[in-house]
Amino acid sequence: MSSFWLDSIAQHRVKRESLEENIDVDVAIVGGGYSGLWSAYYLKLLQNDLRIAVIESDHVGFGASGRNGGWCSGFLPVTLSDLDREHGRDAAINMYRESFRTLDEIETVLANEDIDCDYHRGGTIQGATNLVQQKRIVDEVAEMKSYGFTESDTRLLTTNECLSKISIQGLFSSSYTPHCAAIHPAKLAFGLARAVEKRGVKIYENSRVIKIGSQCVELQNTKVRCQIVVRATEGFTSQLKHHRRTLAPLYSYMVVTEPLTDSQRAEIGWLNRETYHDARNMIIYVQITKDGRIAFGGRGAPYHFGSRVKPAFDTHEVIHKRIIESMHQVFPVTKSLEITKCWGGPLGVPRNWHPSVNYDAKTGLASLGGYVGDGVSSTNLAARTLAHLIINDSHPLTKLPWVNYLSRQWEPEPMRYFGINGLLKLSAGIDRHESSTNKPDKIRAKILDIFL
Ligand SMILES: Cc1cc2nc3c(=O)[nH]c(=O)nc-3n(C[C@H](O)[C@H](O)[C@H](O)COP(=O)(O)OP(=O)(O)OC[C@H]3O[C@@H](n4cnc5c(N)ncnc54)[C@H](O)[C@@H]3O)c2cc1C
Repeated sequence: MSSFWLDSIAQHRVKRESLEENIDVDVAIVGGGYSGLWSAYYLKLLQNDLRIAVIESDHVGFGASGRNGGWCSGFLPVTLSDLDREHGRDAAINMYRESFRTLDEIETVLANEDIDCDYHRGGTIQGATNLVQQKRIVDEVAEMKSYGFTESDTRLLTTNECLSKISIQGLFSSSYTPHCAAIHPAKLAFGLARAVEKRGVKIYENSRVIKIGSQCVELQNTKVRCQIVVRATEGFTSQLKHHRRTLAPLYSYMVVTEPLTDSQRAEIGWLNRETYHDARNMIIYVQITKDGRIAFGGRGAPYHFGSRVKPAFDTHEVIHKRIIESMHQVFPVTKSLEITKCWGGPLGVPRNWHPSVNYDAKTGLASLGGYVGDGVSSTNLAARTLAHLIINDSHPLTKLPWVNYLSRQWEPEPMRYFGINGLLKLSAGIDRHESSTNKPDKIRAKILDIFL
């Protein structure tokens, strides 16, 4: 299975050798997505003499990093008030400020390493298409402001202001934040791989790790001996021994259209390439690509029993149909456009919805992830944090509240299966209720709150 992004640059894919003999390195990184590649990048930046191997079961960017919606967003899957409750107000604010600053950091690396990934920081518009969503948006902006963030971080837009940027069907109101860029995800993954190889990191492809242990990584016929192992497997983590219940793989799906014609573009506007979503529970996420296609994604696909991850799950006829219907509803101009690709992939969800960066200096075991679909930018912050933890230089990033944060394990099956799918159904039901009645679905929302 591939994605529109991977297909579009298939000719630039570098084929790398697989790991055929035992090796000895300082750091073994399992997973060649953004988490693994950014980790290699910052470790090399901080300590150039480290011997680092990235071991990837398929190819660089095979996972979510080559398939995502290309939202490079400073927002996190945990809200400020959630972080405040767990870690205190200052830690929550600090986490968000660092996350917003991460876009500047990514821009610097893209320039320094000459990575062209169609990056454009046009910000994000969040729309409301009913009164409940409208209230949600107003509350979100108010919450940000109550933590000292200002109009320069997030603000409400008048309907006219929003429609002058993008033509959106049925818009009640909206908000805007500048803390997001649209990117071509696979170009970023390939560019990062080039950058780390230039610095002496060795990447092995088609090399599946079957067991991660302290100072050792085992493949089918070979072993890597090392001081430190970084687990950077995100949505695939449940496939590793001893990690069945660490992160639940939830699938997200996308479609992309052919490029809009000039007259369609004139109709829809969207000249600043803002990313777009609305305030429904079952998230949708949209970007307009550099070459004028609409890439539209959505969550809500059923969770697979036993946290299974299989190539067969990379497309889902019913969910893709639903995504296309949503796209036609939000952007009627797309009804006349051909869908040129449908795809999907797993993302990693921790039980507490709280991403983390972990490092145990005694065992040399490290991990990062659980970004719940917000990893394009967070992988950079997580990897930078991890590199400083490993180098042990007491950098301020190592004090962020996600460091060594332990989420609960997911429930054993079949509770996990019924629980996750029940919550997904509940979310979809709430959305339906809100859009048909314009009123909150208080009882179901309360149940959702209790279990999330
Ligand atoms: C359809 C979709 C849309 C998304 N949209 C967005 C978005 O717009 N914005 C956003 O911020 N986030 C988005 N996300 C999430 C984001 O893409 C991820 O959070 C991010 O890419 C995670 O990067 P990663 O390197 O941790 O994981 P991955 O990119 O999944 O990389 C993990 C790598 O590990 C490899 N691997 C797994 N098991 C093994 C093994 N046993 N041995 C060796 N290698 C192994 C895999 O092959 C894979 O290449 C989306 C995700 C999906 C699926």
